[in-house]
Amino acid sequence: QQSSPAQAEFYQAVEEVLESLTPILEHNPKYRQQAIIERMVEPERQIMFRVPWVDDQGNIQVNKGYRVEFNSALGPYKGGIRFHPSVNASIIKFLGFEQIFKNALTGLPIGGAKGGANFDPKGKSDGEIMRFCQSFMNELYRHIGPTTDVPAGDIGVGAREIGYMFGQYKKLANSFDGVFTGKSLLWGGSLARKEATGYGCVYFAQYMLADRQQQLAGKRCLVSGSGNVAIYTIEKLQQLGATAVTCSDSSGTVYHASGINLDTLKQIKEAQPQRLTAYLKFHPDAEYISTADYPADGHAVWRFKAELAFPCATQNELTVADARALVENGCLAVSEGANMPSTQEAVEVFLASGIAYGPGKAANAGGVATSQLEMAQNASMQRWSFEEVDTKLQVIMRNIYLRARDTAAEFGQPGNLVLGANIAGFKRVAEAMIEQGVV
Ligand code: NDP
Repeated sequence: QQSSPAQAEFYQAVEEVLESLTPILEHNPKYRQQAIIERMVEPERQIMFRVPWVDDQGNIQVNKGYRVEFNSALGPYKGGIRFHPSVNASIIKFLGFEQIFKNALTGLPIGGAKGGANFDPKGKSDGEIMRFCQSFMNELYRHIGPTTDVPAGDIGVGAREIGYMFGQYKKLANSFDGVFTGKSLLWGGSLARKEATGYGCVYFAQYMLADRQQQLAGKRCLVSGSGNVAIYTIEKLQQLGATAVTCSDSSGTVYHASGINLDTLKQIKEAQPQRLTAYLKFHPDAEYISTADYPADGHAVWRFKAELAFPCATQNELTVADARALVENGCLAVSEGANMPSTQEAVEVFLASGIAYGPGKAANAGGVATSQLEMAQNASMQRWSFEEVDTKLQVIMRNIYLRARDTAAEFGQPGNLVLGANIAGFKRVAEAMIEQGVV
């Protein structure tokens, strides 16, 4: 930690993984002899670059761009690109590190990576977004390719941004290939990719509940965020007979006791992006809590009473006080759509309480798994139906759950899916690294 004291999120993610690896490291001295941990925590390659662009007023703006290609033992680097003002080297490294284990856990042939820029897409014109994406790609194009590194979307990067980045890649590389996932359905995207992370996170909750003789139907659910993952988590919850009563953005939280109206949410977040306060114009019976009125030690979403919780916004959005409130209010299960949304202390509360807790690297892996299905369709020039992709997604989520559950039991901590997911993912990557030699 002394060499890079500022990388708090990265060290948080590494610490969480290393803590759970103790049992497997103790039983397998070869991992220490092969310096697997020392090699794994060091990215294979980190690219940091200037992203200059011209705004609508003719001013030159400069942002910082990143791509961390963390581990390619299992396949081409794979992981999203995030555009958000909070992006820095620590956040991209934490996300890239988590991605290694998540991707391994899917059982699919994909390595781990992450990228992004400290660019704020909010309030930018379409032309500004396009010029930014083109400038970002002017550097990144030389590092990526369908068998090298295949980026996707994340916070602030949806189909529009992927379109602009792909267009510039195609021009510079002179190649129309499957270098991105999350593409438009018009030119190589997969049906059900948009829905996959949210749907997968709900399937994961379903599998956790089934093992506890519980079902989703009829449950009240708390969801945070109102972006891609949150919207499709709410959609799948509704389809399965559960009721999501909250959603949020970085300005505040909506609580709607009769259930969040999905059409309204899609209208104000997908069709004509605006702040969540607009929800109340359509539903005056809903309640709005601004961030200024949040409890000092946490987040308004987690203070309502419900049986299930789905954090789907961003890292460290669920504090130890939030975790205690959820458990005290009778929450049965937490399934994480976002990456590392719960602080380490919050995770300890969930594990100690005995409620079902699905960590992000297992519960939100449906997105990257479906990205790999998109790569498979591109490589074989096929197009699968929505139902076919959704069925494969359900099988993958079930296998991820079983791998995490059975590994936790094998290592003497039944029910601890953090330990199970970390060990199962680690083992696959470590074995592949050993077979490939010291490179
Ligand atoms: P979107 O950009 O579509 O939505 C993000 C949501 O989170 C928005 O509601 C946003 O509100 C809110 N948010 C973002 N940053 C903050 C912040 N610092 N404080 C409070 N709220 C914030 O992103 P996604 O839905 O794609 O991603 C959400 C999470 O899921 C991330 O952790 C991402 O890494 C993870 N994930 C996404 C996958 C995918 O397939 N998209 C796959 C696996 C994980 P606002 O608009 O006000 O900023």
